[in-house]
Amino acid sequence: MSNIFPPPLVRRLKEEYDFEESLYFDTDSTNDQAKKALIIVDMQNDFLPRGSLAVAGGDEVLPVVNKIQSEFNLIVATQDWHPVDHASFASNHAGKNAMDIIDLDGLQQILWPDHCVQGSKGAEFSVDLETHRIELIVRKGTNKRIDSYSAFFDNGHKKSTGLAGYLIERGVQQVTVCGLAADFCVYYTAMDALELGFQAEILLDGTRAIDPDGFEKKIQLFKKKGGKLISKKERSPNGENGDLY
Ligand SMILES: [Zn+2]
Repeated sequence: MSNIFPPPLVRRLKEEYDFEESLYFDTDSTNDQAKKALIIVDMQNDFLPRGSLAVAGGDEVLPVVNKIQSEFNLIVATQDWHPVDHASFASNHAGKNAMDIIDLDGLQQILWPDHCVQGSKGAEFSVDLETHRIELIVRKGTNKRIDSYSAFFDNGHKKSTGLAGYLIERGVQQVTVCGLAADFCVYYTAMDALELGFQAEILLDGTRAIDPDGFEKKIQLFKKKGGKLISKKERSPNGENGDLY
């Protein structure tokens, strides 16, 4: 028997919630606990071509994101899900334009075009995303005063989405993150996962960046923190396993 809780997370949660640390799952048993989960970030119409905040090449990741799902027995997805008066929208600040940077309650905030408004077509998943194996959908960015790039916390780390607790209860120790956009929601999700004590990897061919140069720099930080980058390729014609890690 061994404790499957990621230790740094346990320490942090213990301080915050003062709970007893105890054995939860028997990792030696043959139960179908997930161990590793796929987190599909924001594969929503507004981040895809013709969307209001389209990420170049965003649609190219769809086949990769669909295909890799077969390697996981737990799949989670996120949706950016903003009220129409969200403070990250340039349209809600007189005289400001998209990509301007403001101070929002002490946090640096990039202003975006209106996107992923709750209940809108733009906030829906792409019809080309395979969704029927997704067990949990985490909606983020719902508080109009703070943005939320990560699937785990808002940008000020003030409120948890509950995702970490869910993954722990499902026995997850490792997450693979894909989706859009690489340099924002994918990156911050993967970084928070590391900080919480999960092993984390980013599926490079399952993501695209808004600013590829900025992503390059962020990736260095991610690797320095112990994050892993993976990419996939098709099996070669002679049937050898062509996965690249
Ligand atoms: Zn957003």
